Amino acid sequence: MKFKTGILGVTAGLLLMAGTAQGASYTVLPGDSLWKISLKYETTVTDLVQRNQLTSDVLYPGQVIEVPGPSAHIVQDETMWQISQKYGITLDALIKANPQISNPNNVWNGLTVWIPDTKLSTPVSTPAPAPAPVVQPKPAQPAAYADGVFPLAKGTFQLPLVNNYNDGRSWTPAGEQLRKHDGVDIFAKQGTPIYSILDGQIINYGWNEYGGWRVTIRVDSTTAFYYAHLSEYAPGLGKGVSVKKGQLLGYVGSTGYGPEGTSGKFDPHLHFGIYKTSPSWSSIDPFPYLKWWEQQ
Ligand SMILES: [Zn+2]
Repeated sequence: MKFKTGILGVTAGLLLMAGTAQGASYTVLPGDSLWKISLKYETTVTDLVQRNQLTSDVLYPGQVIEVPGPSAHIVQDETMWQISQKYGITLDALIKANPQISNPNNVWNGLTVWIPDTKLSTPVSTPAPAPAPVVQPKPAQPAAYADGVFPLAKGTFQLPLVNNYNDGRSWTPAGEQLRKHDGVDIFAKQGTPIYSILDGQIINYGWNEYGGWRVTIRVDSTTAFYYAHLSEYAPGLGKGVSVKKGQLLGYVGSTGYGPEGTSGKFDPHLHFGIYKTSPSWSSIDPFPYLKWWEQQ
């Protein structure tokens, strides 16, 4: 309960509307406005308008209005319990609002009892509990390629990673046709460096109508990693060239979906795919691997 004693300007006296616990009374001074009074009592103009059921914001000097705060009640042949009943508050609240009364069982005529203002909102005494931390399940270690490095440096790509493997895609060189997305898109700014996840040998290099400037790296006898939509290659690469884990391959771009040089048909990102190359080429879901490398 917000409680003030000895407020200047409070007219000590019972406000007329007995039966409800209300605020203190205040006598309007020359030059006062609802705004000025609201500041003085740390409240709002709306609160003052509602307390006083005002239909206009014009005040005149000498007008008595209700403001936030305890109001005074002068004891006259009654007990504290009877006073609490008169104002519709609990005896406990009344006793708490009157710490100056050492024995609430003994009050006498003429004694001032402060009636707490029930229109004041109770201040929040306990801070809101901190939100529970979001527990991210630790990604499972994949059976293969666990020692790979994530193809983009930490802090250079969009989080969280979203698995869009097997989502629908419709662009084909022959026109719109529904197909499966056979990799995962990692969004990053144009020009973000892309690194080789593992050691390997480049088996495809150059333009591809889907992947734009792309590079395919064989990492073992049955598996190839595919990096697509590059804006530019790192120097020294080409078909047959061996690369090392962590070696710069090129930069994120938005190339592809058309004849050589097409770019900007979508937002810049690295499309990464994993293909089993034997007995025939087929994609597998690269997401569990990416999640693992991301955490390393
Ligand atoms: Zn993609």
